[in-house]
Amino acid sequence: MVPMTRVRCIVFNAALGALDYRVPTGMDAPPGSVVVLPLGPRQILGLVWDEGELPGDDYPEHKLRAVLEVLPVPPLPAPLRRLISWCADYYLAPLSAVARMALSSSAALKGGGTVTEYRLTGEEPARMTPQRLQALDLLQGEQATMRELAEIAGVSEAVLRGMLGQGLLEPVLVDSDRPYPAPDPQFAAPDLAEQQAAAAADMVAAVKAHRFQPFLLDGVTGSGKTETYFEAVAAALEAGRQVLVLLPEIALTAAFLSRFEKRFGTQPVTWHSSLKASERRRAWRQVAFGGARVVVGARSALFLPFADLGLIVVDEAHEIAFKQDDGVRYNARDVAVMRGHFEAVPVVLASATPALESLQMAEAGRYTRLVLPSRFGGALLPKIAVVNLTEMQPPRGRWLAPPLVEALADRLDKGEQSLLFLNRRGYAPLTLCRHCGFRFKCPNCSAWLVEHRLSQRLACHHCGHEVPPPPVCPECGEPDCLVACGPGVERIADEVGELMPGARVAVVTSDTLASPAAAAEFVAQAEAKAIDVIVGTQLVTKGFHFPELTLVGVVDADMGLDGGDLRAAERTYQQIAQVAGRAGRGAKPGEVLIQTRHPKAAVIAALASGDRDAFYAAETEARREAGAPPFGRWAAIIVSSEDEAEARDAARAIGGAQPREPGVLILGPAPAPLSLLRGRHRYRLLIAARRTAEVQKLIKGWLAPLRFPPGVRVAVDIDPYSFV
Ligand code: ADP
Ligand code: ZN
Repeated sequence: MVPMTRVRCIVFNAALGALDYRVPTGMDAPPGSVVVLPLGPRQILGLVWDEGELPGDDYPEHKLRAVLEVLPVPPLPAPLRRLISWCADYYLAPLSAVARMALSSSAALKGGGTVTEYRLTGEEPARMTPQRLQALDLLQGEQATMRELAEIAGVSEAVLRGMLGQGLLEPVLVDSDRPYPAPDPQFAAPDLAEQQAAAAADMVAAVKAHRFQPFLLDGVTGSGKTETYFEAVAAALEAGRQVLVLLPEIALTAAFLSRFEKRFGTQPVTWHSSLKASERRRAWRQVAFGGARVVVGARSALFLPFADLGLIVVDEAHEIAFKQDDGVRYNARDVAVMRGHFEAVPVVLASATPALESLQMAEAGRYTRLVLPSRFGGALLPKIAVVNLTEMQPPRGRWLAPPLVEALADRLDKGEQSLLFLNRRGYAPLTLCRHCGFRFKCPNCSAWLVEHRLSQRLACHHCGHEVPPPPVCPECGEPDCLVACGPGVERIADEVGELMPGARVAVVTSDTLASPAAAAEFVAQAEAKAIDVIVGTQLVTKGFHFPELTLVGVVDADMGLDGGDLRAAERTYQQIAQVAGRAGRGAKPGEVLIQTRHPKAAVIAALASGDRDAFYAAETEARREAGAPPFGRWAAIIVSSEDEAEARDAARAIGGAQPREPGVLILGPAPAPLSLLRGRHRYRLLIAARRTAEVQKLIKGWLAPLRFPPGVRVAVDIDPYSFV
């Protein structure tokens, strides 16, 4: 008798756990294979997992059902399988939930397909119209879908279909998942400055050696970090391997794509949530088959099934956008380093304002620190000054103090650009009734509704709840009595418009730059000097390079400091240093004005004096003394339910069952600062442990025996970034 092959499979139902199946003779299903399995009367998706890695059932051999089909994609490679296991263990997430992040395009799993593209036949047209002439001219050498050709030719699809009927265009059937054009590592290699060349050499050596080595590429804004790590990208391409570049925001992608194309002759493959299903499918398949050489993406790209990865870059690595706070709660910066470890490739964390955790790793010798201390091309770092708002107040109902207004007017006279930074979307964060004091609150969250005047709505920034601004107060019925309190970027833009009627003002937030196309349009306008004043949120603090921008104004430097979050000071420092870094990147020197009520606060003083090291040193000491990360390990437990009493009881039950262990402090349960979120009442516990404590094991053992009503959700957040 032929021995039977038994495989243990992850199925995508957290309640089921791993299940065993039989592999029929003639079928090949090695670990990582994506398979179709029978379950009762249904067929479900499964993932063959490594032998001995998962507790499973002892289901008798003769009762095992057979795997139905192995899907036509390469098995998930071993390093990715190890990453998935590691994430599940470290973040205390169900293995199936992490594995699902790797199978992120269901269409891709089903195999290839075709699409019809069109190209010119070379026939001479019998009847010429100006539009056909234009199309014939612009479509030389092009082959694409009708829609894409219409865009290239600047004519309607109807015109092209007419041409097809006349035999001027012909259809070509192509593989819809074909490989992408390969970037050329030699296309336009720049001359690197000495400091860039030295840093690049270290990264290139690690790429060539196919060795795990984390780098902290620590370079001031404008030092040319991108050009420097592009050398490592080129080395990976030369070696025939793939590259992953992570960016914190989709809005940064457009600028990155054009820089990449200038350097490597073609655009990289993009991966983010707003891709069309067909684009996702092609990208996923080509990542797996090796025909996508460089992928630039959001944090979810970390779980793509690269066939042969050679390098990972995390740009703006300090950004908190790399932390995912729903579903599997992971930090992409840390997961990137783990993936590099499993793949045996270097990982580059690039930033002008590294996370304290990363600096600490460099200090401890775990990361190689590469420093670019000055700007590329001799540009100087901007001059930074503080505007003390307790002495120089803006007029009532305004937010820009006289020195900032003067500086703006001066730039406008000279035809230079300015940037005003305020990390608050919309027009005003709070609307109230002057007559009865009513405040507009979200029904689903403990938060005020933010007025958005451009789109005429009051919106909750937590759950998306929206209402049109009512003509009368909903409480007392009084007309014309609603007042906006406090500023958002739209209000600042209005203020600039009133002070300087001729100025061309652009509001830049995630509302206005929602797509890569919108971001590209903004960059083009700013570069063409069609914008005088940019008013933006944290979105404009990083990545952008506008040589004519010479003034940066920070409208409210104190905003991020209240709240008492662990990283409040660090984040304020990073945001302001980054936004300051947008000034004076070209030939003209830059100036930064920081409006604050606390000019003596350590973080403001450090920004003004440019003493980054002193700030980080003080911050590091404070964290060390408090036993806070990275010197201690923190985790949070968030308990929620639509029913307030149910949430409170569950939180108390967890609190009551807390383990006592030396070196582990458990705080709470207490109502979360955001005690209501999307209709769920929330309680939090914080676990603060020493570095060496086995926090995951502790939490697992603590929560495992507890049972809750079905409406209760218990989420664990390891290394939390958010405390609301
Ligand atoms: P950073 O990311 O460190 O803030 P950038 O990578 O944006 O800095 O570089 C600043 C500017 O200098 C960019 O316009 C970039 O194209 C240019 N630059 C950097 N290095 C070089 C180089 N070696 N040759 C030519 N231009 C460079
Ligand atoms: Zn809400």
